[in-house]
Amino acid sequence: MTETSIGKILIVGGGTAGWMAAAVLARTFGRSMDIELVESEQIGIVGVGEATIPQIRLINQYLGIDEDEFIRATQGSFKLGIQFNGWHDREGSYLHAFGDVGRGLGIVPFHHIWRRGVEGGQAGELWDYSLNTRAAMANCFARIGPGESEPLGGINYAFHFDASLYACFLRTLAERQGVQRTEGRIIAVELDGESLHIDRVRLDSGQEVSADLFIDCSGFRGLLIEQALKAGYEDWTEHLPCDRAVAVPCAHGGPMRPYTQATARTAGWQWRIPLQHRVGNGHVYCSRFMSEDEATRVLLDNLEGEALAEPRPLRFVTGHRKRFWHRNCVALGLASGFMEPLESTSIHLIQSGISRLLTLFPDKDFAPALIDEYNRQTREEFEYIRDFLVLHYHANGRHGEPFWDERREHKVSDRLATRMALFRREGVISRSANELFTEGSWLQVLLGQCGEPEQVHPLARAIPSEQVDEALRVLKGRVDQIASRLPGHEEFISAHCKAEPL
Ligand code: FAD
Repeated sequence: MTETSIGKILIVGGGTAGWMAAAVLARTFGRSMDIELVESEQIGIVGVGEATIPQIRLINQYLGIDEDEFIRATQGSFKLGIQFNGWHDREGSYLHAFGDVGRGLGIVPFHHIWRRGVEGGQAGELWDYSLNTRAAMANCFARIGPGESEPLGGINYAFHFDASLYACFLRTLAERQGVQRTEGRIIAVELDGESLHIDRVRLDSGQEVSADLFIDCSGFRGLLIEQALKAGYEDWTEHLPCDRAVAVPCAHGGPMRPYTQATARTAGWQWRIPLQHRVGNGHVYCSRFMSEDEATRVLLDNLEGEALAEPRPLRFVTGHRKRFWHRNCVALGLASGFMEPLESTSIHLIQSGISRLLTLFPDKDFAPALIDEYNRQTREEFEYIRDFLVLHYHANGRHGEPFWDERREHKVSDRLATRMALFRREGVISRSANELFTEGSWLQVLLGQCGEPEQVHPLARAIPSEQVDEALRVLKGRVDQIASRLPGHEEFISAHCKAEPL
């Protein structure tokens, strides 16, 4: 440590964002850094946010978390993808499965070979070649690595978990590594008169806490980044107009599915997230098209089991802080911005924000170049995710419903318009190397929303038809073979990570 090194970090907020940041920072800096977290039990946490994407396994590995213990502690289940019901048309359904679909031939991506097979009548549905999809649809799960599933890439998975239990789990880890937790409500934020950096916060007890670097994880209110530092908010309601949600847990009324369900409704969509002790449900909707009473009724009419609590309304403004990092404060989680949970990206954005902060970790001089780069990369990450979410809404076939008609007619970004046009013509998927969603993700959602490409790609046309036939036959056979010996999802959980009843 030098005189200019950051010596103390104060994290404000003890939700998913606060405790993820605390656990990772403590794991990284150990006891060489003074890390304190202030949270207020009286204010509480948002308590939703229960579906994740596979990248969460990287943070678990970094933190040395035993996966079975983690699932037991959070009443968790496994997630192989998201089933979208009624998005392309009212009856249709498709899975955005994690992991690879099929296997390319040389430089020719698999989906071009599949499209060629469709033309020749040799191919089934694209998803017949996805191990994740086959497992999901059979309610099965196992940890299968690429080595055990050659030439397929194994089973790729994430988790569903109880958000409150997840925060508790991370808190135990972080406190074990030396993070100090202070209970209390922050009532004032004091700035340094010269630098305008945050100097300290004052709690309702009168206690004052100062630090070199502040991490704002205070939720939608953005206590430090917005209320104190006025970083500004870029409103994306125009692109993603849903602005309300109502959430309610219910009892299981069927099998514990190893995937999230996202079912389109007349002015939004409903999530269903299976955990061990209950199912999490919520209805995300646009208040210009639906009242809270109606949204609640739609939600309660579509539960798979008995409601276990009163429905809880939530309001949000889609968008992000104009500066995610401003002066000596970095906002993470809901304090940094919010996009609806259609692709379960918020917890991932916390994770990538922490990782970016570590890469660009400052000294006390807070070099502007580091801050600018952090803000540039974060903004770009938000924009890529926004385009992906907009695709689900824009390319809908729900004619005659005002909300969906408006979404179809709404102009999308030039980048997204180009991507859709390229795919529709001959299945080209254009994505940049550093965006979150893989080619496989874009493929499945483009196909699910836009339908099959009009033409076969020239590279696939150059492959002899017998070779296409053979490749499709071998891959489908391999998927069938592996899928047929997978245990049920509940059976797997019972054998490895069954939680105690709460
Ligand atoms: P919060 O949970 O709101 O925590 C804020 C913390 O700040 C609390 O500890 C609070 O006590 C503290 N605090 C605030 N003010 C003060 C003060 N004055 N003094 C002291 N402490 C204070 N994400 C996903 O990845 N997957 C999903 O499926 C998903 N679903 C979602 C559904 C909905 C409807 C919503 C709204 C969000 C969803 N999210 C999802 C997002 C996810 O919930 C959040 O990213 C995650 O919970 C992080 O929240 P947070 O920690 O930023 O804020």
